[in-house]
Amino acid sequence: MPRTTRNADAPDLSSRTPQLRVLARSVGAVTALLLDPLRSDRPDAAFESTLPDAGLPTPTAAVTLTAFAQVTRSVPTMAIVRGLREPTTVLNAMTTFLVRHPSATFLIDPAICDDIRGRVLPQLPQPMRAVVTPPSDVISVTRSLGSLGIPEDEIDFALPTHLHWDHVAGLVDLPLVPIRTSHAEWDWAMSGPRAPQGVVRRPLENRAVTFYDLAGPPVLTFERSHDLFGDGSVVLVDMAGHTPGSVGVLLHVGAGDWVLMAGDAVWHLLQVEKVRPTASFPGRLTDNDRAGAMRTIRRLAALDRRVTIVPTHDHDATARYVRG
Ligand SMILES: [Zn+2]
Repeated sequence: MPRTTRNADAPDLSSRTPQLRVLARSVGAVTALLLDPLRSDRPDAAFESTLPDAGLPTPTAAVTLTAFAQVTRSVPTMAIVRGLREPTTVLNAMTTFLVRHPSATFLIDPAICDDIRGRVLPQLPQPMRAVVTPPSDVISVTRSLGSLGIPEDEIDFALPTHLHWDHVAGLVDLPLVPIRTSHAEWDWAMSGPRAPQGVVRRPLENRAVTFYDLAGPPVLTFERSHDLFGDGSVVLVDMAGHTPGSVGVLLHVGAGDWVLMAGDAVWHLLQVEKVRPTASFPGRLTDNDRAGAMRTIRRLAALDRRVTIVPTHDHDATARYVRG
């Protein structure tokens, strides 16, 4: 059932997160980052060998996938993939995706609003804010829609892979676009006096929400699913760990080709290739459950090779879908 969220005048309390607590966690995470190369990452063969592959859905429809153009930034690899000290850097982007299904048009991870530095980032505590502030020329969702000639009222809903600020902030400029998420993710993000680390509530409040349940059968290596349109073309799969309700969005893009939108389950495909978690800093601040996040990475590493994995922030993985 759609519903509209509460309290038009309630303040966003995420800005009140105690700075000392965040700083203490950051010091621990940075220390772990510096020590990481001294540790070895052992494959968990026992877990991977027990991963059943339930196979792909049987679709009766297909969708088209478009990634919005976005600026990139170079990040040291050791700040993305734990323990990887390759001298090269990884291009990182904040990307929004447009999906057209025969019966609906929707956005996956509407990332950036106009003036994000003034309207959203001040609600993030330091040092997180300093670490994640995007380049000043970052491209907003509404600008991308405009450049592609897509009217805002053509967007039927938003489907974030999870509710971290950089996957929903573009909704600030799209107040009438409803959102689809799970109770697990919504309750984690919106309950209690303070937003969890990485969540800004402003884009989510006073918005129509439709909840889904991952009550469907296993798909590929994932234990739970939800077939969004009932035709096998857009199937959500459980990727809990990074956040409690993180999902992957499995898209049938036609001719037996599949794309799995992986959100922040990994920040870069190097993590799937090497079977590594995100770097301890900032990963320890942004992963709600590090062990759960690692299990999801192992599920991705064991995937059917016919499925193309697209992490939201991996520039190279998203580039082939960019238009405009
Ligand atoms: Zn995230």
